[in-house]
Amino acid sequence: MAGVSRLQYTTETRLIRVMCSGRVDLEFVLRAFSNGMDGVLIGGCRLNECNYVTHGNYHALTMALLCKRIMEHIGLNPERLRIEFMSSAEGNRFAEVMGEFGNNVKELGPLGKGKGEGIDQNELKSKLAEIRKLVPYIKLVKNEKLASRLVNPEEYDKLFTKDEIDRLFSEVISYYIDPEKCQACTTCAKRCPVEAIVGGKNLIHVIDQEKCIKCGTCFEACPTKFGAVTKISGEPVPPPLPEEKRTIVRKSKEKKEN
Ligand code: SF4
Ligand code: SF4
Repeated sequence: MAGVSRLQYTTETRLIRVMCSGRVDLEFVLRAFSNGMDGVLIGGCRLNECNYVTHGNYHALTMALLCKRIMEHIGLNPERLRIEFMSSAEGNRFAEVMGEFGNNVKELGPLGKGKGEGIDQNELKSKLAEIRKLVPYIKLVKNEKLASRLVNPEEYDKLFTKDEIDRLFSEVISYYIDPEKCQACTTCAKRCPVEAIVGGKNLIHVIDQEKCIKCGTCFEACPTKFGAVTKISGEPVPPPLPEEKRTIVRKSKEKKEN
């Protein structure tokens, strides 16, 4: 409507249209900051006026609240992210919000260099990259809160607390396959959604920690009689077993050879 009505708003923006504000993933926002954007504005339909049964704008809201806390955690000013609800007929409001947000971001200055930020650019890049890798894990752990429907704006600040988010990152869970227990049944490798488990017939399986999204499927899938997958929290993951030591020599085979 703003375009049709020839309303003026800042040109220092890139508009990305999505079918629903609920489609704006946490990863998208973090990617925008990783790509050097100084601010991100999410525009959604008015709450309770969603065209779909999903009420995606509530999802967008909780995601934005979580993202703001994550931004605080890595030292970014959370005001660089804003979510606004408006109808498609409110062109005036859209132009107004765009102008206002553009000015706010200009006042904050370049990403990481604003008042109270002062983060080294390389450090910021690596922090954002680290957090982006954890997005599936974060969404899984905060699944329940992300599905909340906050009707009262007074609830916004309380949904995620600073301590909770600090703890989330200090207690990140990793999964490790105990080489002494793995029986190479291949169940975990077949179930891993991102092919992060390296293994094969008669080979002790190993988790590629770079690829692992910490979904916990292997932990659930490993047969109880083996119990080879362990959860590790707040401690470094042991290094993977060298490839040349991964072959399992079965006792029956050993006997035959003797
Ligand atoms: S935790 Fe999930 S992603 Fe990671 S290795 Fe296990 S199944 Fe794969
Ligand atoms: S499911 Fe357990 S025993 Fe089977 S390959 Fe994976 S870690 Fe090893």
